[in-house]
Amino acid sequence: MSQQSHAEPQVQPERTPESGFDIGFYNWTPDDVNGFDELFVRIQQAESVNDWSKILADHLVWGNSKIAKSVGIFNMNSATDCPNLGTDNCQVPKESCYAFRSENMYGNPLDYRRRQEFIWDHLDAETWADAFLEVVSRKRNPVTALRFNQAGDFRHRGDIVKAERIAHRLNDEGYDVYTYSASDYLDWSVANHLTVNMSNARREYGDKHYTALPDGVDPTDVDFLDDNAVQCPYDKSDGADEFKCGNCRLCFESNGPDVYIRLH
Ligand code: SF4
Repeated sequence: MSQQSHAEPQVQPERTPESGFDIGFYNWTPDDVNGFDELFVRIQQAESVNDWSKILADHLVWGNSKIAKSVGIFNMNSATDCPNLGTDNCQVPKESCYAFRSENMYGNPLDYRRRQEFIWDHLDAETWADAFLEVVSRKRNPVTALRFNQAGDFRHRGDIVKAERIAHRLNDEGYDVYTYSASDYLDWSVANHLTVNMSNARREYGDKHYTALPDGVDPTDVDFLDDNAVQCPYDKSDGADEFKCGNCRLCFESNGPDVYIRLH
């Protein structure tokens, strides 16, 4: 996870509605979040796409243990604040949610993801996409895709509209944009450029299913899965680098097959 490396700001943030500060929407307060005031000053002082690209660069992660470095990851919120945490919408019980556990074990991921949420809400889609492209232009390593939400989930239709507009812009520049969501209760009808992997099967709200099956369950016996559903190659290979997301692109493609992993 990237660290903010710049010096402490000299300007103290003005936390007033007039200065663009509105925190009433969140489950958290600024005092809960390390690095919030520094971020807020940077947002207040941002005047150009270049300024925003530096803020975004400090809040984008490139790959992880399952995702190749060519894929950027950005969360709209934390797992702790996820609208689906601990609900029937999510396939994973709260205590088994890896992202939630990491946030509550180490603290830093929770601060980081809450700052990501604040950035997400303070940046329009066009500027977000422009800033992302500027970050990419400065990178030495190749970039192929953007994943929304390794932790957290879509909160409302505005998140879908914004992500779709970003996906449209980035698709035009040759980048795939994809996500997994359990927010089946939202209106996803505008999501055409954003590839949506459905992580629950209550409605047909996205492009295709991504689900976990217990050992021994035949995918062809599962009603909601297409007959051509495939096991995630990363899962099947027990985590081979060559099948990391980005090397494998099954979840990036809206017309790809349904995918399942095995619950062990
Ligand atoms: S099917 Fe491919 S893209 Fe999807 S999670 Fe598995 S490795 Fe990643």
